[in-house]
Amino acid sequence: MLQITQVAFRRRLISAIALPIILLLLLSGVSIWQITRLLSAMRWVDHTDRVIGQANHLQKLLLDIETGVRGYQITGIPEFLEPYQQASAQIDTAFDQLGDLIVDNPKQVKRLKNIESAQITWYKSISQAITRKQRGEVEPLSGLKYRKQITDAIRRQIADFIATEEQLRNQRAEMAQKNTQRVIFTSVILSIGIGGFIGYFIQWQLAKVSQSYENALLTAQEQTENAQRSAQRLVALHDIDRAILAADSIELLLRTALAQMQQLVPYQQAFVALFDFDTGIGRIIAGNSVTGELPYPEGTQIPLADFALEQSLQQVFYYIEDLTDSNTCITILAQLRSRGIRCCLCIPMLVEQTLIGELYLTTTQIAAFDTQTHDIAREVTAQLAIAIQQSLLREQLQSYALELEQRVRDRTADLEAANQELEAFTYSISHDLRAPLRTIQGFAQALLEDYSDQFDTVGQEYIHYITEGAVQMDTLIADLLAYSRLSRVDIQLNPVDLTSIVEAALKQISTQIQEQHAQITVNSPLPPVIGHRPTLIQVVTNLLSNAIKFVKPGIQPKVEVYAQEQQHWIHLWVIDNGIGIAPEHQERIFNVFERLHGVETYSGTGIGLAIVRKSIERMGGRTGVESQPDLGSHFWIALPKATFHAHGTNKSNSAGSSN
Ligand code: ADP
Repeated sequence: MLQITQVAFRRRLISAIALPIILLLLLSGVSIWQITRLLSAMRWVDHTDRVIGQANHLQKLLLDIETGVRGYQITGIPEFLEPYQQASAQIDTAFDQLGDLIVDNPKQVKRLKNIESAQITWYKSISQAITRKQRGEVEPLSGLKYRKQITDAIRRQIADFIATEEQLRNQRAEMAQKNTQRVIFTSVILSIGIGGFIGYFIQWQLAKVSQSYENALLTAQEQTENAQRSAQRLVALHDIDRAILAADSIELLLRTALAQMQQLVPYQQAFVALFDFDTGIGRIIAGNSVTGELPYPEGTQIPLADFALEQSLQQVFYYIEDLTDSNTCITILAQLRSRGIRCCLCIPMLVEQTLIGELYLTTTQIAAFDTQTHDIAREVTAQLAIAIQQSLLREQLQSYALELEQRVRDRTADLEAANQELEAFTYSISHDLRAPLRTIQGFAQALLEDYSDQFDTVGQEYIHYITEGAVQMDTLIADLLAYSRLSRVDIQLNPVDLTSIVEAALKQISTQIQEQHAQITVNSPLPPVIGHRPTLIQVVTNLLSNAIKFVKPGIQPKVEVYAQEQQHWIHLWVIDNGIGIAPEHQERIFNVFERLHGVETYSGTGIGLAIVRKSIERMGGRTGVESQPDLGSHFWIALPKATFHAHGTNKSNSAGSSN
């Protein structure tokens, strides 16, 4: 826009300068042309003067010839012939020069030719008269008369010639004068005309130029103001955005945003109604008022029929400059009018083409909102609609999350209860199973001892199987009881000396060590840890027992036990030279009943490592294994380090008393 105005301004400026220059050039051209014509006319006058002068000179020469001859005839003195001689010498040149001057005038050329031929005849007679006189003869009267006739004729002809030229000169002088007058007249008229026109044109152009300059200035000013307004608008919209982001409830969000919008839109009261199409109710959710009073207090419920829903949807928004002038049948507008409101702008809140509510901006002044404020209000309303929608979704999400949390808590409680029930059941079953098992074992033993003679070897073998099965089952039940007890008993953590733990464990499996000729190396002293002594003895016993057990037949089990300190943790390693464990099984062997071999190959219940992991977890530690098939296994447990003095002196910071 500004560029267009500048171009127009430049064009006008150029035409304001160019046209006067062209007109002045035209005037100069006309003047030069007229002056050239005038000069040419004057040259002709001058030329005619020169012709007349030359004719007079010729006449004078003829007179000189005549006078010289006469003087000589009368006196006979040769000196009197001097004018005759001088004139005779010039006469031909004089004729030629005159001829040159009148070459453009055929009439005069002819006349001059006649004069010249008469002059030749005349001159001949004069020459004869001079010769006669020189001879002393007297010229006859007839000769004199004849020469007089010729002289008169020549004189007449020259006089006619000069008269013609004079007439010509007068005509030309008159024409030159007329030309001069015409030049002066036309120059004055043209100068006045063109000068006046240029003056008027320049004045007109200057007015136009200053008008377009003013327009350009106004446009620039307008654009600057627009840019400033846009910047202000951006800042305010940004503030509204921030308010929307910062608010933690829809009401607060709307109040803050509406207060910010007041800087851009001069409303007195603004309020937002949210629609519930299921109940047919619109609720005034929040508002802002510069007068301190809202037309409807927050929370007011209004039937949806009172709003102008259809109209607002069709028109995107509606604006009533003066409510007192409009015959509205919309209840809410009639109510606003009855409360003294004059001007109202209503903008629907749409989320993905779905109407969720309306924003009302009202004031007691007529026509208070211009198109710019309409745009701003629409823009802010669109943002608010999205923010409300998001807020509603967030609230919905929060309630879902709370509900979900509650459900998880309930399920966990149910699960814990079920688990406890199951453990109690396992415990009681395991416990109760032991009594009949003892009976089986006892009676099998009694059969062997008291009635062995009544059984053949096969019968006795069966009784052995019964006893073995009962022992196996007893071990399983004992392990199960130990495992389920781990979840039930209260484990008190204290500093315990690992050396004494390993010693106690070794004592428990001494028979197994002797039977398998196992070689156990303990790198004592081992450091103290925080743990539960009896549980820890069970853990180490299980690890050592496995280390001796899972060895290929015929190989002497060699086990090494040592401790390693890592920051505040003590790692106890049990390293064997056994069959090793493939990497894919190294994690699952810590689960209950997970065994990699049949009972016939290696005896066991599959509960030992599960007890290890659960026990260590209950003591706040970790367990693991590093192994390769056929290359032995490196089992480890990690427990927090304790400062412990031998022989029971406890200097640890840990809570609890020693067991
Ligand atoms: P159990 O010893 O009664 O079979 P565990 O829970 O103690 O049960 O061990 C589970 C399985 O892990 C064992 O059956 C065995 O296959 C494997 N395992 C445990 N310790 C070792 C070890 N030191 N070397 C090789 N395999 C082992």
